[in-house]
Amino acid sequence: MKVKKTFENLTLEGDSVKNKDGSIVITGKLTGSVKVECVKCLKEFDKEIDEDVKFKVVQPPYDGFDDEYDIIEQEKYDLEEILKSEAESIKNDYNVCESCQKEDFNKEF
Ligand SMILES: [Zn+2]
Repeated sequence: MKVKKTFENLTLEGDSVKNKDGSIVITGKLTGSVKVECVKCLKEFDKEIDEDVKFKVVQPPYDGFDDEYDIIEQEKYDLEEILKSEAESIKNDYNVCESCQKEDFNKEF
């Protein structure tokens, strides 16, 4: 089944397949941008996102292991929740804005 969901400026587009065991596999692309805070100057900026994603949505409690997919535990399959938590984890990344990146570059040489 084709899926497409947008949360704020982040869009997830791809295919979802339901497995016999009830888990749902989503493969696709995450594109758009997320407002993040620079870890150096604390300024907000839009981080461009363009990445391939592979999610496996499972019923909790999940005690398996999967090195191919990102495991997402959900009582009820909710694509928007997945997008929200992706946006959240991007916000918690080590984000450095362009001008701070340039500054670092200049310091090195
Ligand atoms: Zn900065």
